Amino acid sequence: MTLHLFDTATRAARALVPLTPGQVRVYVCGATVQGGPHIGHMRMAVAFDVLVRWLRRSGLDVTLVRNVTDIDDKILTKSAEAGVPWWAWAQRFEREFTAAYDALGVLPPTYEPRATGHVTEMVELMERLVERGHAYVTGAGDVWFDVRSFPEYGALTNQRPEDLTPADDEADQPDGEGSVKRHPHDFALWKATKPSDPATASWPTPYGRGRPGWHLECSAMAEKYLGETFDIHGGGLDLRFPHHENEQAQSRAAGHGFAQLWMHSAWVTQGGAKMSKSLGNSLMVASILEQAPAVALRYALTAVQYRSMLEYTPETLHEAEATWTRLAGFVERATERLGRSHDLDAVRTAPLPAGFTAAMDDDLNVPAALAVVHEHLRRGNTLLADGSDEQVEAEVLALRGMLDVLGLDPVQWGGAGQGSLAETALDALVRAELDARARARAEKDWTTADAVRDRLAGAGIVVEDSPTGARWSLVHDQED
Ligand SMILES: [Zn+2]
Repeated sequence: MTLHLFDTATRAARALVPLTPGQVRVYVCGATVQGGPHIGHMRMAVAFDVLVRWLRRSGLDVTLVRNVTDIDDKILTKSAEAGVPWWAWAQRFEREFTAAYDALGVLPPTYEPRATGHVTEMVELMERLVERGHAYVTGAGDVWFDVRSFPEYGALTNQRPEDLTPADDEADQPDGEGSVKRHPHDFALWKATKPSDPATASWPTPYGRGRPGWHLECSAMAEKYLGETFDIHGGGLDLRFPHHENEQAQSRAAGHGFAQLWMHSAWVTQGGAKMSKSLGNSLMVASILEQAPAVALRYALTAVQYRSMLEYTPETLHEAEATWTRLAGFVERATERLGRSHDLDAVRTAPLPAGFTAAMDDDLNVPAALAVVHEHLRRGNTLLADGSDEQVEAEVLALRGMLDVLGLDPVQWGGAGQGSLAETALDALVRAELDARARARAEKDWTTADAVRDRLAGAGIVVEDSPTGARWSLVHDQED
């Protein structure tokens, strides 16, 4: 079976056939950096991170572009209220997003272009649309996309022109006085500068100074980094309309093939309703990470299929943490038993269980893939008790290989203890104690040997003797 993905444009699962054999080019809409990251942003990032990891594990060379929208109405308004330059506001939150992606193990994109670094490309695309009769200029230099000039408009979201909701997005409103668009569905490619705008937030165009509308940047940046036609365009479900419909209209009206397949990740719900801004800070990544380790949030966001709503409660996080701790605990015990850990090359070249591969190829069905992971966890734990080293090794490689695809490999996360530095230090101290005990035993000095053992037990450390030497673990690690 090859990878099938649900294409939102055709509303059907389709086999992914890369335009260039062996290579997949993906564009994902990134953050508008007007505020800090919340769990909804991270859900989308994690969904596409799993896609990229699975494509790479399947032997494909992936180019991922995820843009940063660093100029828009909200950034201008909020920065003005805060009394700081708009770029300072944008960069502050761009850094917060980067920190959140890193904390959750989201791999960096191949390219992460900022809108303001691509104004020339946007103006060129806009000029092309004006020349081809798909865009027009009004007022002091507002430029509009002419929806009626493009019969395909509405195709991405399966809407007939008469059913479309008017483009009343804040980003699509005219700024200039007396600037009237021809049709209610026309949307802004470019907004003429207003007297109240900072002088630094406008760029020259043949039609006057102004700044880009939101949709234009993605068409321009996708073309620059991925070419006129590329494999997959992704984003959150709420971007389908109008943002993605408009992106596609701009690029196709300019003569480009644009995305061949569209993927949309569902949002996070609370009490069955879409997460809303009124929930305040509780769902900001920074505040969640004060309550639980980052890997627990990563697990919770990964465990649900990307097209299913993720119903979030604080318990979601605790359950995820408990489950991940069991997985990490097995990897830790297996590594101790084998006396070595495998490097990533070994993890990424060991065969994956067929059930896992089939589940991932089925539109990234992570819940089914995790069922296979848990089967292997159960088998691995049994083998730790009565299997051979070879059997344990095969299980730990399979388990780590699967978890690596999901961005959850315990070794890369620093092990079950989370505090890898503290754990390494503790291990060194306990090993010194165990060496002293081994020497005492070799000299038949049972009093000293027992004293070491008692001292460790008093500190909550249990020692088990095995044919390969003494192993230690913390008392609370003895469950399951
Ligand atoms: Zn976009």
